[in-house]
Amino acid sequence: MVSKPETSADVVRLAKPAVGEDELAEIRDVLDSGMLTMGPKVAEFEELLAVAAGTTHAVAVSSGTAALHVGVLALGIGPGDEVLVPAYTFPATANVVALVGATPVLVDVDPVTMNMDAADAARRVTPRTKAVLAVHLFGRPARLEELPELPVLEDAAGALGASHGGRACGSLGELGCFSFHPRKIVTTGEGGAVTTSDDVIAERVRSLRHHGWSPSDEYADMPRPAFNYRLSDVLAALGIPQLRRLDELHAAYDRIAAGYAERLSHLDVVLPEADPGDRHGWQAYVIQLDERDAVMEALRTQGIQCQIGTYALHRLGAYRSQGSFPGADAAFDRALALPLHAGLTDAELDRVGEALDKLVSHH
Ligand SMILES: *Cc1c(COP(=O)(O)O)cnc(C)c1O
Repeated sequence: MVSKPETSADVVRLAKPAVGEDELAEIRDVLDSGMLTMGPKVAEFEELLAVAAGTTHAVAVSSGTAALHVGVLALGIGPGDEVLVPAYTFPATANVVALVGATPVLVDVDPVTMNMDAADAARRVTPRTKAVLAVHLFGRPARLEELPELPVLEDAAGALGASHGGRACGSLGELGCFSFHPRKIVTTGEGGAVTTSDDVIAERVRSLRHHGWSPSDEYADMPRPAFNYRLSDVLAALGIPQLRRLDELHAAYDRIAAGYAERLSHLDVVLPEADPGDRHGWQAYVIQLDERDAVMEALRTQGIQCQIGTYALHRLGAYRSQGSFPGADAAFDRALALPLHAGLTDAELDRVGEALDKLVSHH
């Protein structure tokens, strides 16, 4: 028999948002109320998020990048300042630093955890270093306590529900930044948030997302110019049922991660994990292996969607010329994101496992 053309039903999806009737009902509420933005759904979304992040405040914004941008501004970072940023991350992490006129100083990453290398971070501190922007990459909690003593912004875009040393990611630094892009565990289509337990930072972020109006003056004054980075109520509504189900979503992702570990542990690949006692956020299930490009291509031909991990910033035009970053190079060349979503079945896990079993050497 000739191989049959691939139908969409045969494709193992890389990501698939866990949204359905509950989300539709919430969105219908918004449409019925006629308040499509600045209504009650954003406030409800923020309350649920603050609980999940273990902070007193959560301020919803229009994307994870917007959260990082206002986060950097809220800490007073600007021209002349340096901020430590991992060399292997989604580029928005460094872009926001550059866009406020400060210098993103790239720091190499540990080739196994793919998070910032603490020894390299310490070497790159200067009198101008104002903060460290630490990423919990792919949801793996970063060891913040090993980093130089500086104010910490957490890029927790992939770490909703993750925890480090018993505390929720997003509550570990001065502030945390989340994303609700469809590749994250909770999605609003596009969206983000800043979490903090600092009243002053929260107030600044509320002002920065809303043109610079001062919330404490009932918006009578505008002490500085700023953005419209608000999240609409339509989108916040979409996130509410998912936040209510966050523990369930995590249980599903934990089960899938365990399923992968069972099927792949005899192969020459590095499996993702969190430090003992930590909870992984499972933004993505990213393994590391030799011949990544060939394996990625072969999986795709078999209808298994997969993707590179993320970017080595020193290889992008915007960030060349900061030197060499062997840890980031290794991660960039070797990382492979496998299908991961709450609806992934055991049969699909088997398919991915069997495909990799044939493509990768055993130990
Ligand atoms: C997704 C992500 C971002 C950007 O979030 P957007 O909502 O797409 O703007 C930033 N940093 C990391 C680590 C991410 O995973």
